[in-house]
Amino acid sequence: MNDKTDLPSKSDFSHVSEWVFDLDNTLYPHHIDLFAQIDRNMTAYVADLLDLGPEDARKLQKQYYHDHGTTLRGLMHHHNIDPAGFLDAAHKIDYSPLPVDESLSAVIKALPGRKFIFTNGTVKHAEAAAKALGILDHFEDIFDIVAADYVPKPAGQTYDKFASLHRVTTNKAAMFEDLPRNLIAPKLLGMKTVLIVPSVVDQPLERWEIADDNDEHIDYVTSDLTGFLKAIL
Ligand SMILES: [Mg+2]
Repeated sequence: MNDKTDLPSKSDFSHVSEWVFDLDNTLYPHHIDLFAQIDRNMTAYVADLLDLGPEDARKLQKQYYHDHGTTLRGLMHHHNIDPAGFLDAAHKIDYSPLPVDESLSAVIKALPGRKFIFTNGTVKHAEAAAKALGILDHFEDIFDIVAADYVPKPAGQTYDKFASLHRVTTNKAAMFEDLPRNLIAPKLLGMKTVLIVPSVVDQPLERWEIADDNDEHIDYVTSDLTGFLKAIL
């Protein structure tokens, strides 16, 4: 029996003509930890908004993240905040830790068909990160949290919206993503699903961020996106 962590064979993806990538911790590795900056900004926003100390703000932020899929969704639900202002504050970060990734750029470019970034962040953030990595030009479009009407992955309706907006034939699509639960909807839509896991265990993941053997919605698991894509080219 094949292990999910085995590299794929070319024929497993020969039907795929739509390539869908999450951004954070997928197109760049977890250990670069760009998200830590966003996370700190979100905590500061919550602290400021509700006049909380850093620890209480952090706790509440994580609770919203867990219960609503994103901190933003929780803040909108419970405190009716302006999403645009929050997103601007959250994404004021330094992109210089992201290196140009020439080998990733070459394999993404070589994939046959259309390529998309599908993120719970913003277009502005995705463009800045993808530009820093040197891969931005390979994508037809970026579907972000604004396009999703602020309903984040893993909500099924958001994948439907993405697919219909871009006329994506989901049974000819593959999705790459670092959060296991964000691969449930794409699997149901007939997409091939690839979970990206950290190559370096740099900090503890939350339990629900970790895949287990019962995750039938995950077709493949890899810590090396470039190597994975090379195997199917
Ligand atoms: Mg991600």
